[in-house]
Amino acid sequence: MYENYKDLAKRIRKDCLHMVHVGQSGHIGSMLSAADMMAVLYGGGFVKVDPKNPKAPDRDRFILSKGHAGAVVYATLTELGFFPKEWMDTYYCDNGKLMGHISHYVPGVEYSTGSLGHGLNVCVGMALAAKEKGEKHKIYCMMSDGDCNEGSTWEAFLFAGQHHLENLIAIVDYNRIQALGFSKDICDLGDFASKVATFGWATKTVDGHDFMDLENTFKSLPLEAGKPTFIVANTIKGKGVSFLENTVASHYWHLTEEQKLEAYRELGVEE
Ligand SMILES: [Mg+2]
Repeated sequence: MYENYKDLAKRIRKDCLHMVHVGQSGHIGSMLSAADMMAVLYGGGFVKVDPKNPKAPDRDRFILSKGHAGAVVYATLTELGFFPKEWMDTYYCDNGKLMGHISHYVPGVEYSTGSLGHGLNVCVGMALAAKEKGEKHKIYCMMSDGDCNEGSTWEAFLFAGQHHLENLIAIVDYNRIQALGFSKDICDLGDFASKVATFGWATKTVDGHDFMDLENTFKSLPLEAGKPTFIVANTIKGKGVSFLENTVASHYWHLTEEQKLEAYRELGVEE
C-alpha cells in the first residue's frame, strides 16, 4: 500500500515540475511539500470523490486554501481521471486550461483561492451547512503557514470549535517558510497545535512525508467526537529536490529545462 503512495507522490511531483516549467511560473516549493499528503488523501480514498460525477451531492469536499500551490491538486486530480493529462501542458499559459492559482473552473476543484485566509472560512460554512442538513460527507482544508497568519483564519478556528464541526478537518502544510521568509522571523505560530486546541479542536501533529503516519491519522477521523480536527503536518518545503528543499527561494521559482531534468533525475523519473 505504501508503495502505491510512493509511486503516486512521485508522479505528482513530476507533474508539478513539468507544469512549473511549462508555465515558467509557479510555487514549486509549496507544491512539493504537499505532494505526499495529496497522495494519501486521494490515493488512499480518504477524500471520497468520483471523477465520473464530480458534483455528486454526497462527495467529500477538499479546499486548498494555499491556492498558489494549485498544481499539486491538478496533478492529483488528473491522476484520478478528472481531466486529460494534456491540460497540464497549458498550465499558467494564456488561455490555458489550468490557472496558476487554483480555479474551480477545473473539474474536481471545489473553490478558487489565492489570497490567503479564505479557505478555512469557506470550509467552516460548508461544514456547518452539512451538519445542519444531517449530511455525512467530510470537509477537508489544506492550509499553509502564511494562511495561518491571517486574522480571518483564527475567526474560523473560533467558530468551528464553538459549533462542534466534527465533519471538518484542517491540515496545515507546516513547512515553516512563507512567501518572504521563514515563519519564525515573520509571524511565529509557536506551539501551534496547543493554541488551536484551546479553541475546541482535536489536534494531532504528524510527519507530512510519512505515509504510515498520514494513513493512520486519516483512518482515525474524526480524532474526537464533537470536535473539528486540526492536523499539523511537519513538512519540508521543496521536498524531494535537493536544490529546492527548505529554501525561501523555492516559494516562487522559474524552472529551467536543465533544473527540471536534474529534479527528475533526483526523483528517479523519466522525462
Ligand atoms: Mg509554508
